[in-house]
Amino acid sequence: MKLWIATGNRHKLQEIGAILGESVNLRCQLDIPGIGDVAETGCTYHENAEIKARALWELVKEPVFADDSGLEVDALGGRPGIHSQRYSAPNPTHEKNIAKLLSELGDLPEEKRSARFRCVVCYINRGGTPTFFEGTLEGRIGFEPRGKCGFGFDPVFMLPERGCSVAELSEEEKNRISHRGRAVEALKRYLKLP
Ligand code: IMP
Repeated sequence: MKLWIATGNRHKLQEIGAILGESVNLRCQLDIPGIGDVAETGCTYHENAEIKARALWELVKEPVFADDSGLEVDALGGRPGIHSQRYSAPNPTHEKNIAKLLSELGDLPEEKRSARFRCVVCYINRGGTPTFFEGTLEGRIGFEPRGKCGFGFDPVFMLPERGCSVAELSEEEKNRISHRGRAVEALKRYLKLP
C-alpha cells in the first residue's frame, strides 16, 4: 500500500521504513517540494502527532501518519518530554541536549536515573479519521555517551538488562525494542500489513 509519513527527518524515515517493510510504498513530505516543517504547537505527544499528520493529509488526502516522541526523565519530573528536541535551545543539537541532560543529573546515583522514551503515532485514513498507537522503552540515563548508532539521546540511554546504550545496538535491534518500533508495529498490525 501507499502510505505517507509526515517527517522531514531522514534518520526517522530510514528507521520507520525498515520496520514497515517492502510491502509499503512509503512516501514522505520531502517528496513534496515547498512543504516545510509544521509548528508543533500541541501540549501532548498525541496533539503534536495529529498536527503533523493532519497538515500532510490536507495536502495529499491519502492515508498518512506522523509520530511524535520524546525522553521522559523521572528525576526531572518527566522533562524534557515533548520538548526533547529543543531541550538545549536556542540552537539545540543532539550533542548539546546530551551535555545539558548529563549536567542536570550530575552525580545522581544510577537507581535514580530512570527514564523512558515515549512515541505516539497518529494514523489518518483516506476519510480523515485519526487513530493513535503508542510505544515506550524503559531505561536509565548513563554517566557518559556510549556508542555511535542511532540519534538524539541514544548514546546516554542505557538498557540495564543488556548492559549497553541504545547507540550500541544495531538498527535492527533498536527497531525491535524501541518506543518507535513498538508504536509502528502496532500501526502495522492495525493495517494488517505482512
Ligand atoms: P520527535 O519530535 O519525534 O522528532 O523527537 C523529539 C526528540 O526526542 C528528538 O529530537 C530526540 O531528542 C528525542 N528522541 C525521540 N526518539 C528518540 C530516539 O529513538 N532516540 C534518541 N532520542 C530520541
